[in-house]
Order: sequence, then C-alpha cells, then structure tokens
Amino acid sequence: MRGTAVRHSGVYPRLTFSWDYTEGGRQGWRGLFVRCFKLLLLAGLSWASPAAAGTACRPDALGTARTLEVPFAQGPVGRASYGRTLPLAPGEVVLTFDDGPLPRRTAAVLDALRAECVKATFFVIGSMVAQFPDTLRRTAAEGHTIATHTWSHRYLDRVRSAAVRRDQINGGLEAARAVLTGDAPALSPFFRFPGLGHSPALDGYAAAQRLLPFSIDVDGDDWKRITPAAVLARVLKRLHAAGGGIILLHDIQPRTVAILPELLRQLKARGYRVVHVVPARADTQAALARLDAPQARPIRLALDRLGTRMGRLAARAPADPGERPLFAGDAPLLLRAGLFEDAPAPPRPVPDQSRAGETARIVRVAAVSPPPGGGGFSVVAAAPAAAGFRSVAEAPPAR
Ligand SMILES: [Zn+2]
Repeated sequence: MRGTAVRHSGVYPRLTFSWDYTEGGRQGWRGLFVRCFKLLLLAGLSWASPAAAGTACRPDALGTARTLEVPFAQGPVGRASYGRTLPLAPGEVVLTFDDGPLPRRTAAVLDALRAECVKATFFVIGSMVAQFPDTLRRTAAEGHTIATHTWSHRYLDRVRSAAVRRDQINGGLEAARAVLTGDAPALSPFFRFPGLGHSPALDGYAAAQRLLPFSIDVDGDDWKRITPAAVLARVLKRLHAAGGGIILLHDIQPRTVAILPELLRQLKARGYRVVHVVPARADTQAALARLDAPQARPIRLALDRLGTRMGRLAARAPADPGERPLFAGDAPLLLRAGLFEDAPAPPRPVPDQSRAGETARIVRVAAVSPPPGGGGFSVVAAAPAAAGFRSVAEAPPAR
C-alpha cells in the first residue's frame, strides 16, 4: 500500500512511581518524612492535572460567556439543515467538534480550549469512543458537552435499511453511555447526522428516540483539503456574515489543531462570545431510556468489549491514563482518521450540498507496522474488522 500507517498507543503515558521505601526498613521520623513528601508530590501532580488546570483562567482569556440549556422541546437546530437555530444573541458562538475522539488531536483541541477557558460540544463517533474511551472521559471531565454522531459515520440519508439506521444512531449514544456512566451530566441527547444528511423520516426517528438533531450555522471547512490558514479565514469570514451561531469543526483534523489557538484569539479580538450548550438532565435520561440497542453483531461485540474494559477500569483506581486501541490485537483494518475529505461525489443529490462530499474510508492493510517517521496517512487507529465501516480497495496516495 502507499501511505504510512501511524498507530496510536499510549498517548497519555502511565505515570509510574518507584519508591525506595519499605515499612520494615525505615520507621519513625524518616518514614513520616517520606509519607509527607509523597502527599506533597501527589498534591502537586493533582494541581498539574488537566482538570485542575482548567479552573484557573487568564484574565485575558476568551472564556465562556454563558451556559445555555437546550431542551428537547427546542427541536432541531442549525440553519444549514433546519432554517432556524439556537436562541443566540448577535456575536454569540457555539463551538462544536465532530468525528472524534482521536487521542492526540483531540487532546490538542482540549488543551487549546482549556488555555482559553472555553467549553465546547463534541459530537463523537461510537466506534472511536470504543477505541479511545479515555480521551472521551477527559473531554467530559473538562466540562465539555458530549453529543453523538452515529456508530461509524454512515450517511444515513443514503441508507435504506431501518436496522442499519437504528444501529448507527443508537450505537453512538450507547458507546458514550458505556464510557460516561459516572459522568452523566456531560452526556447529552444532542445528535448530528453525518454529512448533515437528514430527511423527515430520519428526523422523525430521532425525535422518537428523544434525540435533538444539531445541525450547523457556520461550516469551518476543516475537512476539506485546504490550508490551515484558509480554514481560519473561512471560519472568520462566514462567522462575520452569519453574525454568530453554531460553528462546525473536527477535532480529528490537523488543520483544526493548527488553527484553534489563533481562532480563539481572533474570536476574542473580534468581540465574539462563546456559549456552552448543555442538555436538560431529564432529556438525556429520556433518550437513554429509549435507546434501542444496536443488534448488528460487530457493533454488539465492540460494545460488549467496551463494557468489559470499562468494568475493568472502574475496578481500578485511579483511572487508567493509558490509551491503547481496544482492538489492536485482532484488527486487520485501520481507520484512516483524516478521512472526511477528498471524497468522490455523492451518488445522488442530498439536501445539504455543502457537506455532500464527505465519505468515510477504511484502508485494509496486511499488517500493522510501526510508524517509520512521517509521510502518508496523518493518523490511523486500529478498528475492529467489519464493525460497520465501509472498506475500500486501495489506499489513497501518500501526501
Ligand atoms: Zn462527521
């Protein structure tokens, strides 16, 4: 194959401590001193942890201007699909990031948001959650809203099977629920259709599931093959034209990672104010109560494995900071993460042409090889074979 596979593993290296101390050999004052030293060091580590660091904001940080609870009764929002949007004042923006989590890039996005004390909403993919639950847990722990974006990014307006639609829509939420059981406030019934491809029937199904479709007002175009500078320019230009609204970006995209700090600075300089959207708690519970569990065997298998992994993590304290692909051992497929670009034209017109070029590609490779240092695919992640992904015969050219 052309291109280079770069596999994620251990983005957050486990902290290990090797104490040269035994109860039997060092008693009395020396032992007490060592214990105090341990406590101070652990306190220092806690202070330096991402969650703790988020509590201190620079005076000149962009900040989050207000929190807006969006109830289910609000109905679908986003002018790109529904002709109406959230009740935002002029100059107010809602930051949304799709298609993650992907450890290194999502972490960089989280770092940038934390540096500016900004809260956002992440529309996550269930199969990515199943592989990188720790990244989702960090996202939730830092106060962002977790929304869902199907199991494997199928374009549901092109799917005829009701069973596939059900599994895709519910699979994302079930994966997020499996990971965030202890952090339910972050989980929301907000849902975004891949490619914004929706229909009255799909909207009706989402409503029956008590999911709240979230479209967009401003497309960042960070999924297109353009320069980071072009992404920044387009976001600011479109934002100016729209006067604010829901901005679509992708935390898996390197362009987004590259521009986000500057974008946030520009939002501040231009007087925009960030609004953090959150669900009504009862709405999330209603959506979870109606969740129609996916039936497709590969998805069920992946969710079962995720449940087993989360059970193991729950039994271990504190949370395992390691982030290894769940399916690394048995996955002949690699998901190319920078994949929502450079795609063929859709087979037929869809309502939202601005997003119609998206497609997901899975690249089949003979074996997982270590990264030889650059080139080729930007990032790939191990994925379970036949877990609902669509595969293609050959890899795209290296770039
Ligand atoms: Zn997407």
